[in-house]
Amino acid sequence: MATMTEPGAAPWDGGWLRAARRLDSPNFGPRPAGACIDLLVVHSISLPPGRYGGEEVQQLFTNQLDWDAHPYFAQIRGLEVSAHFYIRRDGKLWQFVSADDRAWHAGVSQWRGRANCNDDSVGVELEGLEGERFEDAQYETLAQLARALSARYPIAHIAGHEHIAPGRKYDPGPGFDWARLARQLAGTAIAFPAAP
Ligand SMILES: [Zn+2]
Repeated sequence: MATMTEPGAAPWDGGWLRAARRLDSPNFGPRPAGACIDLLVVHSISLPPGRYGGEEVQQLFTNQLDWDAHPYFAQIRGLEVSAHFYIRRDGKLWQFVSADDRAWHAGVSQWRGRANCNDDSVGVELEGLEGERFEDAQYETLAQLARALSARYPIAHIAGHEHIAPGRKYDPGPGFDWARLARQLAGTAIAFPAAP
């Protein structure tokens, strides 16, 4: 993907990253006053699970998914969720909610001594499946995104949904290489989950 720091162009338009394809989700709200946006939460998603390349995730995040289009969708019928960012298998980056606003990705959660992680985190979904591996291009985009976010917000922590909602959520799962991402983000002050 194109670098997010083209000379002469500000990387951010408010809470929207110019390098991302923007598709507005209605599923968001304001963050609490004074929220310290210091956490990046990594998720994985594919709809139906394990099928890549379609438009279903974008449809889910914009409340446009046809619940009758696949038997799996009956399990999530009516779900209103969103993430700030979505990284396709080819590394292409989408954004659905301004990072200044509160997206609906974490649910009941707790990390770095604070609960309700939606209040003060940025959620990024990787197109993928729990337990499966992720693509080189996805790590590249994720690392660039983390650096771009760090330039605008005081990002100090990164964790998976599985870390902030243990026993309830399992994404991105064991196929995600945290050590690799840590190497990519060497030189930043972003704290990673302790190795199991
Ligand atoms: Zn998740």
